[in-house]
Amino acid sequence: MVTASNLGFPRIGGNRELKKLVENYWNGKLDEKALLTGAKNLRAEHWKLQAEAGIAQGHIPSNDFSFYDQVLDHLLLFGVIPARYANLQFPLETYFAMGRGLQKPEQGIDVPAMEMKKWFDTNYHFIVPKFEANQEFTLRSTKPIDEYKEAKALGIQTRPVILGPISLLHLGKAAKGASFDPITLLDKLLPAYASLLTQLAEAGAEWVQFDEPVLSFDLPLAYKAYYAKAYQYLASAAPGLKILLANYFGRIGSNLDFITPLPIAALHVDLVRAPEELDIVLQTVSNSAQFALSLGVINGRNIWKADLDAAIAKVNKVAGVLGNDRVFVAPSCSLLHTPHSLTAEVKMKSEIRDWLAFSVEKLHEIVAIAKAVREGEASVADTLAANRQSIQNRRTSNLIHNPAVKAALAAVTEDMFRRKSPFPKRYADQQTKLQLPAFPTTTVGSFPQTKEVRVARQKLKKGEYTAEEYDAFIKKEIDSCIKFQEEVGLDVLVHGEFERNDMVEYFGECLQGYVFSQNGWVQSYGSRCVKPPIIYGDVSRPNPMTVYWSQYAQTKTKLPMKGMLTGPVTCLQWSFVRDDQPRKDTTFQLALAIRQEVVDLEKAGIPVIQIDEPAIREGLPLRHSDWAPYLDWAAKAFLLSSTGVEDSTQIHTHMCYSDFNDIFPTIQALDADVITIENSKSDLKLLSAFESYGYTNGIGPGLYDIHSPRVPSEGEMKERLDQMLQYLKKELVWVNPDCGLKTRGWKETEEALKNMCEVAKAKRVKS
Ligand code: GLN
Ligand code: ZN
Repeated sequence: MVTASNLGFPRIGGNRELKKLVENYWNGKLDEKALLTGAKNLRAEHWKLQAEAGIAQGHIPSNDFSFYDQVLDHLLLFGVIPARYANLQFPLETYFAMGRGLQKPEQGIDVPAMEMKKWFDTNYHFIVPKFEANQEFTLRSTKPIDEYKEAKALGIQTRPVILGPISLLHLGKAAKGASFDPITLLDKLLPAYASLLTQLAEAGAEWVQFDEPVLSFDLPLAYKAYYAKAYQYLASAAPGLKILLANYFGRIGSNLDFITPLPIAALHVDLVRAPEELDIVLQTVSNSAQFALSLGVINGRNIWKADLDAAIAKVNKVAGVLGNDRVFVAPSCSLLHTPHSLTAEVKMKSEIRDWLAFSVEKLHEIVAIAKAVREGEASVADTLAANRQSIQNRRTSNLIHNPAVKAALAAVTEDMFRRKSPFPKRYADQQTKLQLPAFPTTTVGSFPQTKEVRVARQKLKKGEYTAEEYDAFIKKEIDSCIKFQEEVGLDVLVHGEFERNDMVEYFGECLQGYVFSQNGWVQSYGSRCVKPPIIYGDVSRPNPMTVYWSQYAQTKTKLPMKGMLTGPVTCLQWSFVRDDQPRKDTTFQLALAIRQEVVDLEKAGIPVIQIDEPAIREGLPLRHSDWAPYLDWAAKAFLLSSTGVEDSTQIHTHMCYSDFNDIFPTIQALDADVITIENSKSDLKLLSAFESYGYTNGIGPGLYDIHSPRVPSEGEMKERLDQMLQYLKKELVWVNPDCGLKTRGWKETEEALKNMCEVAKAKRVKS
C-alpha cells in the first residue's frame, strides 16, 4: 500500500503558541508545569491534525517537537553537556542555558550560550555540538520515548524522529582546545543510540526515522564504513524496529553507495531539490536493495501548491517498479521550514492565496497523491481538478508576468556588470569629491531602534498616525541621529534606518512582485520566528524607495551621507521565492530594481551608497561542485545592482560574517569600493587571508562587536586597528563597528563610537 507520511511538523503552533509559552516561562510569568502542559497540548493538537488529514498511522512524526532546537535536544539526550553547564539546577535550566546562556548574578551564575549555526542552507539555526576528546555518551533523557507514549495514549502511532549518529557527529566540532575529528567518537556513541532504540521498541514503536541530512554534503569515502557500522549496530540492537533513513536538502549523489547495503527498511530522498536523482536511485534500489523509498515530492522549503499531476506521475513510476508496498509519499524535508497553515491569511489577495500551500495544506497534498496512486485518480477527482485550475491560473496570471520587467532583463548588456573605470581611478575620484581623512570612520547603517520608533511604525499601520505625523517623527529621529554622528566625530554619516522594520521586508513592501502573509511564521532560532516575504511575480520598482529619506538626511549635514540598500541576493535569500523561474532570474530582476534606486540616489546628490549582502555566503550550495555557477550569478547580481553610477560615487557593501576563505574571488569580483565585514573576534587569520589573497579594494573589518552591550575601550580598539594595519594597506582601511546598531541602546552606542572615532583620529596624527 502506498503510504502517506510526514517527516516533521512545525512545532511553533498556528499562532506561535510555543514562542509565547517559552518566553513567558523565561520571564517568570509561567511555571515549569504550565510550560510542560502547554507544550503537551500543542503536540497533541499537531498529531491529531496530521492523523485527521490522513497521514498513515506509524508515519506521523514524534520527537520533532523541541523547546529550542532539535540538535540541542540530542545533546541532552546523550549527555553531551559542556562542563560550564554542569552545576545548573535542573534539566530545563541546563537546556535553556546551553541554548541562550544564563545570567543569575545573585547566585554567581554567568554562562554564555553555545555556538549557533545555520542549518544547512535554511534560515533555521541549530546549536553546534561540542565534543570533548574523552567524551562519554549515555542516554540521559527519555524525551523521544515519552513523546512516543504520549501520542500512543491518544491512539496515534508515531514514527519517532532521531538525528542520525553520523549527522550528529559530523555537524559538531571538537571542544575548544581539543583537536580531533568528532566522527572518531562513533564507537562510543552507538551504545547510547542502541539503548534509545531498545526502549522505543519496548514502548511499541514500529518505525524510527533517522535523519541523516549530511548525506547531502560531499562526504569522504571513509564514511561508507561509518554508515555501515552505525546502521548494522542499530539494526541489530532493536531487530523488530524498522529504520527509515532520511536525507534531505540535496542530492545523495555518490553517497548512495554508502546506503544501499544498509539494513534499513526505507530511504527518504528529496525529489524537490534533486529531481534528477530519481532514476538512478530507483534503478539502484530495485537492483540491489530491499528497502522502500520515501519520495519527497512536496516542497518542505517553500509555500507553493504542488503540481499534483506531476507528483503522482513520479510516485506511479516508482510504484510500478518497486510495488505499492515499497512507496511512501512525503514532503521533501521536515515541514519545520514552512508556516503552519493558510487559515489566517484572510487579507491576502485571494488570487494569490489560491497558489499557496502551507504545512497543513501540504499534508492534504501528500494524502491526495498517495490516494490517487493507491485507488486511482478518480478517487480524488475533485482535488485534482481544483489543483489543476490553481496551477493553470498561476501560470498565466498577469499579476505575475510583467512584460516590461522581462524586456528590461532581456536588454541587459555586458557593460551593465562593470563600473566605468578600475578601482584605483575610482577611489581617487571619490577622494577628490569626499575629501576624507585617513582611516575614515563610518557605521554599517542602522542606529538604535528604540521602543518609540517601533511604536510609531505600529501607529502608522493602525491608522493612529497620519502620514504627516509619521513623516515628522522619522525626520526628527534622523535630525538627532545626524547631530549625534557629528558629535561623536564620524566622517561618513547615515540616516539611521528608522523607517525600516526589517532590511528585507522594507524593500519588499516598496517593490512590486512581493506579497506579505499575516501569519506565515517559521522558526529561526529558539523562540525567534521570522515571516519571510513571498516573491510571487516579476519584481519591479514603481517608485524610489529610499531617496526621500537619504536626500532629506543629506540636507542636514555637510558631511557625506551614505545611502543604504539591501542587495539582491539577500532580498532573495530571506524570502520565499517563486519556483516558476530560476532563482538567478528573480535575483537579476531584484538587481535591476536596486540599480534604479542606486542611480536615483546618485542623482539626488548622495555620494556614497552601501548595498548590504549579508546572505551571499549562506546561499552557497551544499555541494562544492555547485558553487561556481551560484557564485557567478550572485556576484553578477551585485554588479548589476551597483555599477550604474559614475566613478566618483563610492559603493560600499557589508557582510555579517568573517568566513571568506572559500569565496575570496567572489568578494573581489563584487568590486565594491569599500567592504565592511565582521571581524569582532579579533581574528588575525581573517586579515592575513585578505592580505595573502591580495584583496585590492577598501576594507573596514569591524573594530568592535555590536552584538553585546559591552563598551570596548580605546586601548582595545587601538590594538585591533594596529593588528589590522599589519596586514592591510593603510590607505584602504576604514574604521567602523562590525554590523548595524539597531539592537543596541543609545548610551553604549555613544560611548563605543566616541572611543572608536578617537582611535582613528589618534592614528591619523601619527601616520
Ligand atoms: N544596514 C543594515 C543595518 O545596519 C545591515 C544589517 C545587517 O548587516 N544584517 O542594520
Ligand atoms: Zn551585518
